[in-house]
Amino acid sequence: MKVPFFDMAAELASVRPAVDRAIARVLDSGVFVGGAEVSAFERELAAASGVARTVATSSGTDALLAIYMALGIGPGDEVVTTPFTFFATAGSAARLGARVVFADIDDDTLTLDPAAALAACSSRARAIVPVHLFGHPATLPRSSLPIVEDAAQSLGGVPLRGVAAACSFFPTKNLGALGDAGAVLTDDVELADRITLLRTHGAQPKYHHVTIGGNFRLDAIQAAVLRAKLDHLASAVAARRAHAAAYRALFAAADLGAVRLPAHHPEHAYHQFVIRVRERDSLREHLARHGIGTEIYYPEPLHLQPCFRELGYGAGSLPIAEAACREVLALPIHPALAPSASAHVVDKIVTFYRQP
Ligand SMILES: *Cc1c(COP(=O)(O)O)cnc(C)c1O
Repeated sequence: MKVPFFDMAAELASVRPAVDRAIARVLDSGVFVGGAEVSAFERELAAASGVARTVATSSGTDALLAIYMALGIGPGDEVVTTPFTFFATAGSAARLGARVVFADIDDDTLTLDPAAALAACSSRARAIVPVHLFGHPATLPRSSLPIVEDAAQSLGGVPLRGVAAACSFFPTKNLGALGDAGAVLTDDVELADRITLLRTHGAQPKYHHVTIGGNFRLDAIQAAVLRAKLDHLASAVAARRAHAAAYRALFAAADLGAVRLPAHHPEHAYHQFVIRVRERDSLREHLARHGIGTEIYYPEPLHLQPCFRELGYGAGSLPIAEAACREVLALPIHPALAPSASAHVVDKIVTFYRQP
């Protein structure tokens, strides 16, 4: 039995007729950037997410960048976030000339530790950015600073609580486009208007630029595809949660002391099911030999990346994040995973630990 880490063909098969119709509709319309498909997607995503406004963007990275720009973040400002995330959370702030301040994570949830985040805030801090990593809700710090949520992995599970949330529709995310796509979710109508302006080079009206923005627009084809797939988001998250429950039951029955299971939370969207083991790399090779795909999110913490060397963090400065990078292993959990796959995966993990 082969268990791929992600199965794009299976992911698309269930929605293929609706996706084909959506693409044909855009081809017939002749409108390929922005337009009615994008506006309709924004309204439907807002309704599905229970927020006042959404602004569709060219990627999750650009959603983060546009939020930071709309908050006026720039040189001399500090943005406090987790070192255990995808690069874009921090990179988008650094691109604006802000200094990224990393605070350590909670050992249980692997999300930004709210107390550590507050302790890391100087008078120059302009935003705190928790990441709902793997779909597990991060506890938001109690602060008067704007809380920007990186919700790239938590759509369909974790509700908006901060000033704005950035979502990604990268093909493998909970709601996947057929390429790059993203959105900002917010209840702040003025912030949404500012981000909409920034999305088209700050032009209002066309060719009259009131501020400096960028091209953060979403293609109509992606919007149409996302509208077709949005109907299936709730059932896709339910499928992920069912796979997670199956993994938990199987691991409990196997009673492997060496495997640390991910923290559970009722809002957990289970974008990933990430176990922690000391012998991570040899277990990963063992599973690969048995046709089981796994991934490492993330092998290197952001505070030790070469591009952030001048921030001055050394090895050992954020020990919980550094230990997580050595131990995490993501198991297959996409919605189209065969029901028997989790038993096969756990069985092969058991043979790794029980054989001499
Ligand atoms: C995917 C992801 C992003 C960036 O999204 P893109 O659409 O790939 O630009 C940002 N943050 C996190 C945590 C992500 O997983």
